[in-house]
Amino acid sequence: MAKSRYVPIDIRRELIEEAGNKCANPGCPVTCRYEFHHIKEWAVYKVHNADDMIAICPTCHSYVHSGRLKISDEKLRDWKKITRKQVASEKTDQIFIEKGKQSSMVVGPLTIKSNNGAIPFRMLDQVIEYRIENGNLYFLNINLKRADGKDFFTATHNILSTNLPEGVSYDYYAGKVLIKAAVGDNFLPGWAIKEIRQFAPDFATNGVTVLDIEVIGQGAVKIAGLVMVAGDVALVVHEDEIYYVVKGTVRPWIFSETLDKVPFLPKVVDYKGSDNNTIPYIEFNPNSRGK
Ligand SMILES: [Zn+2]
Repeated sequence: MAKSRYVPIDIRRELIEEAGNKCANPGCPVTCRYEFHHIKEWAVYKVHNADDMIAICPTCHSYVHSGRLKISDEKLRDWKKITRKQVASEKTDQIFIEKGKQSSMVVGPLTIKSNNGAIPFRMLDQVIEYRIENGNLYFLNINLKRADGKDFFTATHNILSTNLPEGVSYDYYAGKVLIKAAVGDNFLPGWAIKEIRQFAPDFATNGVTVLDIEVIGQGAVKIAGLVMVAGDVALVVHEDEIYYVVKGTVRPWIFSETLDKVPFLPKVVDYKGSDNNTIPYIEFNPNSRGK
């Protein structure tokens, strides 16, 4: 018989792992927050036995104890039987967003507005596209690659999934995803960092922010850090500026106000989104170097 109601750390770890590093409910996307439910009631048995416990999020836990739709013990046992193969480097998350009258995406100095809410941000086959519907931010399409061309972050129909190499951190809370990499890895070549530091000396001193997505208001999303690399071209969002760096040139292009004054790149064009609505998007085309 255990004396303390406090669940020992090794049992917590075992249960979180069993649940696949998320709520054990296969229909629930919650990660990060766990409660440890005793299927054999603590009050009666006074034991912490992993075979009779489950890691679920606080919301799902509340449905185990009350509500018109209760989660039964049988259901919890079924969830425990699910074999999860998720490895630590693979993460899946979802992002919720409050509905707004109009949706907007803030990317560095740019605010892109759209009535139907789908805004892609594209460089060759790397893209960020989302839609806001019924209070959810749907990432229809995100595909970001490392400098060596390998996919590292994709999203389809609102499931964010990452496959992170060693040394890359992935942090998440509701409405925020932050991916950081150490300098010197595959995400941003040294020549690009060097050029950007001419203008922003503190750039990447604390690692490279590969992706920083945050819900900042109703219908509003901010991309504060973004790194896209294709061959000898790098696109980097750093604080309030966008750096467009072409290897071997004296200085990067820096966009800090609007796109209007930029003679060649990027351009805002209409794009037929995955939902078949025509929406504006920003294209950075490394094949067009301008004059
Ligand atoms: Zn849950």
